[in-house]
Amino acid sequence: MNNIKNSTISWQDDTPYSEHFQDFYYNSDGGIEETLHVFVNPSKVAERYLQMDTESFCINETGFGTGLNFYCTLQAIQEAAKIEKHRPLHFFTTELFPLSVDDFIQAVARFPQYSAITEQICQQYPPAVKGFHRIILNQGSIYLTLIFDDSFSAYQQCLHKTDAWYLDGFSPAKNSQMWQPELFQQLARLSKTNETTLASFTSAGAVRRTLQEQGFKIQKLSGFGKKREMISGLYTAENQPVCSPKPWFDICPSCNNIKHVAVIGAGLAGCTTAEALVRRGIKVTIFDSATDICQSASGNLQGALYAKLPSKPTQSGEFHLTGLEYSLRLLNIYQCFDGETAQQCGLLQLATNAKEQLQQQDLLAQNCYAKEVVRWVDAAEATTLAGTKTPFSGLFFPRAGWVAPKLFCEKLIADANIQLQLNTDITQLTQLADEKWHLTANGGKVFEMDAVVVANANSAKLFPQLESVATKAIRGQVTHSQANAVPLETVVCGAGYISPATQGQYCFGASFNLHEQSLELQTSDQQTNIDNLHKVLPELAAQLEFSEQPRGKVALRCSTPDYLPMVGPAPIHDAFISQYKKLNKDKNWTFATDAAPNYSGLFINLGHGSKGLITCPLSAEYLASLLTNQPSPLPRDLSQAIHPARFIIKQLIRRAI
Ligand code: SAM
Repeated sequence: MNNIKNSTISWQDDTPYSEHFQDFYYNSDGGIEETLHVFVNPSKVAERYLQMDTESFCINETGFGTGLNFYCTLQAIQEAAKIEKHRPLHFFTTELFPLSVDDFIQAVARFPQYSAITEQICQQYPPAVKGFHRIILNQGSIYLTLIFDDSFSAYQQCLHKTDAWYLDGFSPAKNSQMWQPELFQQLARLSKTNETTLASFTSAGAVRRTLQEQGFKIQKLSGFGKKREMISGLYTAENQPVCSPKPWFDICPSCNNIKHVAVIGAGLAGCTTAEALVRRGIKVTIFDSATDICQSASGNLQGALYAKLPSKPTQSGEFHLTGLEYSLRLLNIYQCFDGETAQQCGLLQLATNAKEQLQQQDLLAQNCYAKEVVRWVDAAEATTLAGTKTPFSGLFFPRAGWVAPKLFCEKLIADANIQLQLNTDITQLTQLADEKWHLTANGGKVFEMDAVVVANANSAKLFPQLESVATKAIRGQVTHSQANAVPLETVVCGAGYISPATQGQYCFGASFNLHEQSLELQTSDQQTNIDNLHKVLPELAAQLEFSEQPRGKVALRCSTPDYLPMVGPAPIHDAFISQYKKLNKDKNWTFATDAAPNYSGLFINLGHGSKGLITCPLSAEYLASLLTNQPSPLPRDLSQAIHPARFIIKQLIRRAI
């Protein structure tokens, strides 16, 4: 999955130089002036931000490098206007060879005038992990989406229309691989007729011709410094509607004018959704039948914050790893790494049997992950890292850790625009003729909302509209014990997992039971948790004391058949079946361009299983983007992999319905 490698750079004339492309990242005398001349001024970004009448203003770039184009753009807009969170700036950019974090810090130190923004990026700069990395800046008025991938593959995965293209990247002569017609096709697909502009430092004939073929009107302008010419352009072609290969996953622009959203469920899925919506200037009311937030599966004292990685690329692996990185950034923004809310203490995944040893060796041999993401450690190093003896070798994830979900959620929803309605069981959802939703609570009280996000896990099925959602409950029991033993320094996963102590307690487990639904603590499950701990950390386990009476917490995780969450518009089950019935006969059937039959204004965010800490924040950011018609933080493939209708479609193809 991750064949991304950091670039190798040297410094010449105080300017970064790419050893791979044998070229400077920017002009060694006048990098800022060049950026303004080539990209920012011809694209008129400041005037256009001021005049826009869309939900956000978006720029797509190729070749992020040190980010100079981004900083100059931001400054130009900020000099003309206040960028506000209800009309944010989105900057998408690609990078096939990202600078390492150390090189990046060194590079941006050359631009102290932009430190207000570069310091935030340095805090959140991702490791070399392939894929989309959304970075929230200035409390959500600016979004930088760094895509670590080749520009063509990156933009092929995007669906949003952009306002302006910045075509950077080393010159076609030095980097012919990037300047390909396939990339220009994507540029056209993501452009708006007579609105989207383009700017580039190169005026190479082949580039100009291909852009013209794709519908851009190109103008030659005088270049910067010694460069004779550069280009600017406007997309003037009409985009023809194309038949989508998977129309059931197409998402129509959301209901307009959403001002107040109901989120049902005050666990991790609900609280992260509320945060992502409020960050966009939307008012949120969270409803929960319980007396406090995080009372079900999100109510464990601690949860491990890590992505279990497959040895070879899979969509789940990509979703989990980019989800982990997004969660780390959100935890950072909310200053959660205080040792009480969360701790980035690393995680050991120990190989407790021969099969796991082989799997781990295979993962390492495939060489898909950067060393800063995962590395192998022998039993001696594992013991040193854990701070207590373990007989096993394993994988060490230095970026992982643990989170206290309830404390995290409290920080996320501490906003005047989030109202919390506890002790309120919503029993009915009704859509009115004007598309607004009425939520009826147990006592008969009715709340009117512009849209609803159902994030109440296994209870979602109780709403008639969602009775067919493919969720299943999996019981889990964690054990608590007084932390009077040797301190544990990292999270350790073996048969179960244990985190370093918090609030004077060790919290470990968890059992996994599909067939039992009881919410009573069970002695047998406690014993299994203790046995697992003895096997992995014998010295620590020997020092803990347990009473006959089990202590801990039981909850029912909400899971799905493929263990990925369900996030997106709620499908109208029967209408989906009748619209796509032909899949029964031919899985390649071409359908007319009718919109997929989803409830308008009804969304779901469910099925996070035991991975909510890494899947909820990114899913929430995705949902909030959908509801506000803003660019998605997910590649198209991943948004389809978590689409709520996927199980209906799979069943149709398998002729199971
Ligand atoms: N304005 C940028 C800056 O301030 O650093 C200049 C970037 S430099 C001229 C071009 C960047 O494009 C490099 O970081 C390079 O690694 C990246 N690049 C090259 N080929 C690429 C590709 N196919 N897809 C994405 N990025 C690519």
